[in-house]
Formats: sequence, structure tokens, C-alpha cells
Amino acid sequence: MINVDRPLSELFAQRRPLRSIEFFPPKDAAGVEALRQTAAALKRIAPDFVSVTYGAGGSTRQRTAEVSAILRGEFGFTVMPHLTCVGHSRAELAEIADKIHADGFRNVMALRGDPPKGAQQFSVAPDGLRYANELVSLLKERQPDLCLGVGGYPEKHPEAPSPEADLENLRRKVDAGAAFVTTQLFFDNEAYYRFVERCRRASITVPIVPGVMPVLSLKQVQRFTSMCGTSLPATLLRRLEAAGDAPEIVEAVGIDWSLTQIRDLLARGAPGYHLYILNRAKSALALAAGLAA
Ligand SMILES: Cc1cc2nc3c(=O)[nH]c(=O)nc-3n(C[C@H](O)[C@H](O)[C@H](O)COP(=O)(O)OP(=O)(O)OC[C@H]3O[C@@H](n4cnc5c(N)ncnc54)[C@H](O)[C@@H]3O)c2cc1C
Repeated sequence: MINVDRPLSELFAQRRPLRSIEFFPPKDAAGVEALRQTAAALKRIAPDFVSVTYGAGGSTRQRTAEVSAILRGEFGFTVMPHLTCVGHSRAELAEIADKIHADGFRNVMALRGDPPKGAQQFSVAPDGLRYANELVSLLKERQPDLCLGVGGYPEKHPEAPSPEADLENLRRKVDAGAAFVTTQLFFDNEAYYRFVERCRRASITVPIVPGVMPVLSLKQVQRFTSMCGTSLPATLLRRLEAAGDAPEIVEAVGIDWSLTQIRDLLARGAPGYHLYILNRAKSALALAAGLAA
């Protein structure tokens, strides 16, 4: 008998703030060992669930399944594997959905996906899907009891022609059966509040979980923000520049910023927070301690 996860929609229905943490599958065995250590450390703060990203290449994909199995089997976390449309036919996506379901997972983050390394643009696979709303429909049709999360973009998806068009697309994903939205990372909470307000006006009523990333390096955050269209507030930039090349000070600035963000988000009714920790435990532990105070 396999263990079957609870759908996250049941947890959201409890109306208490949920803490979730995102992992990415490491490239090699040493990385997997490091991830085990991170997972063991994070066990202490009992995240409500963890998620595992999905890469564009074949071996990366295999690793999503492996890492999800480790986090579920060895550490007992409720795990939400991500799945993307990149490079898959409909038949392959249906097969992956069946496998995920058969293994007892009941939650999936359904995404279009980023283009593989070296490609400038997303391209549809032969007999594949173009948009995440199509993936939501396929998964719901194939395995109706999967609980699906989708991505949302407080500062607009970089390819969307306008915030209005982007919102319409988000609505398509929710109408197709997504149970909640997790946002792209942002550093300015006002962007999140405005986004939630616009969603509610557009009758998108599902939980919208803010995505928060404690900064680990200035270069890295500049790369991320330029890639995903997230703004870097001038105050945060000044603090990171003042921290210079002292990594422990940069990290402290990053944790302090995230802590201020999360306190405000929870005080203003966010349904929890999703942490982008880049497989490092320290910031998540520091934030949990800071929030407990
Ligand atoms: C929480 C989260 C987790 C992520 N995890 C991963 C991961 O594991 N692996 C990975 O590769 N990437 C991941 N990403 C990145 C994501 O794949 C990219 O942002 C990607 O470019 C868009 O994915 P999406 O699912 O939001 O796409 P979509 O919702 O399909 O949107 C893509 C673009 O098309 C537009 N659009 C959508 N539907 C339509 C339509 N019907 N007609 C016209 N235009 C439309 C949208 O406005 C948007 O500009 C994640 C992002 C988030 C927010």
C-alpha cells in the first residue's frame, strides 16, 4: 500500500498561514547529499510542504522524480513536484501524470516552463502544449484528484503584452482547475498587494501564495531580477552594495529584508509564504526563528 498525500487545497482551507520551501534537483550525487543535509535541517521547522522544480533536459527531469521521492520517503515531507510542457508531447505528459499519481503524490505545480539553456524562446514540442492552462486541463482530465498550483506574476510575466492580458491568462489557468497560485519572487510587497487586488477584482478567488527569496548574492539577484522582470527596490540595492563582497553580511541583509517582507505579508492576510532557498537551509531556519520571536 502506498501512502497518499493530502491535497494542499485541504490545508489552505484551514486558513492558517502555510510555510513552503522550494528545492531544485542537484546536478550530481554530491549535490543530492547536500540536499539531504538541507532537508534534515529543515525538518526541524516542519514546512507544510516542499516543492521540487522541473528542468528542461531529460536527466534533470529524472532527478525531479528522484529528489521528490527522497524528500517524501526519507524525510516525510508533503512534496509537490513541478511539471512543465517543455519538450513533452501530450501523451508523455499524461504518462508522467499517471506516474506521479501512482506514486502517491496528490499535488503538482503546473507550468509552461522556461526554454532550455541556449534557447531564446519557448517552442511547442511535437503534439505538445503551448500554455500552462492547457497543462492544467490535461492533468485534471487525466487525474482529477490532483491538486494543482500555477505560477502568477505580480510584476507581469516578461512575455505578456500587458498586465491585463497576463491576468486574463492567469484566470484561464484557474478556470481550468488550478487550486492556488504561487507568485514569482518579488521584493516589494506593494507589487503583491496590487496583484492580489487585481486578481480579486477579476474574480480569481483561489489562495495567492507570495514567493519570497532571501538574497544570497548581489550578482545573483541582479541576474534573477533581470530574467524574470522583478524590480529590485533602491533601498535593498543600496544595502547589498554596502555589504560589498562579505557574503555573511549580504546574507544577513537578505534575511532581514525577507523577514520584514514576510511579517508584513502575514499581518496583511497572505495565505502563507513560499521560500526560494536555492537548496540552502540557513535562511529558512533564520526566518523561522525570526518569525517565532
Ligand atoms: C512558482 C513558480 C515555479 C516555477 N517553477 C519552474 C520549474 O520548475 N521549471 C521551469 O522551467 N520553470 C519554472 N518557473 C518559471 C516558468 O516556467 C516561467 O515563468 C515560464 O516562462 C512561464 O510559465 P507559466 O506556467 O507561468 O506559463 P503560462 O501561464 O503559460 O504563461 C506564459 C506566457 O504566455 C502568456 N499566456 C498564457 N496563456 C495564454 C493564452 N492562452 N493565450 C495567450 N497568451 C497566454 C502569459 O501571459 C505569459 O506571458 C516557475 C515559475 C513560478 C512563478
